[in-house]
Amino acid sequence: MRLPELIDPLLCAAKGRHWQGKLALGRLGRLADMIVNPAEDEVEIDLRFHRDGRTPVVTGHVRAGLKVACQRCLEPVDIAVDQAVSLGLVTSLDEGALLPEDYEPLLIGQGRIRLADIVEDELILAIPPIPRHERCEMCEIRKDTLERPNPFAVLADLKTKT
Ligand SMILES: [Zn+2]
Repeated sequence: MRLPELIDPLLCAAKGRHWQGKLALGRLGRLADMIVNPAEDEVEIDLRFHRDGRTPVVTGHVRAGLKVACQRCLEPVDIAVDQAVSLGLVTSLDEGALLPEDYEPLLIGQGRIRLADIVEDELILAIPPIPRHERCEMCEIRKDTLERPNPFAVLADLKTKT
């Protein structure tokens, strides 16, 4: 299915629209700046717009394999995102406070929004503030090379001895 760029979220909820498909990570501008694989990978979207009682909601999943730079060794860390989405569409903060507990508020204005924006926020939330390899083999390797004695120091040593 080809995903639309812009949607009217309230209209989608009223009509019970179900969007499934893939978006290139590179199309998510803010996210693209935070990851090292914006050009290669995609996010898989499965979002259902509907109503829960009188509340317009969006439920479903977003899945993506993000790669971010490890803050210790700068090699990529894989972050597998499989995030359940459960959003209540609200037009004011007061409305947000009244949402059933199962939903996070998504503040919308009148008219259309970028479908990608909903997805992007979910993916950005999945990135840890300081991404690091859990067991950082690359970091260990780097530490080893750094701790190895400096060959020039050894040479200097030899020179002083002769
Ligand atoms: Zn690392």
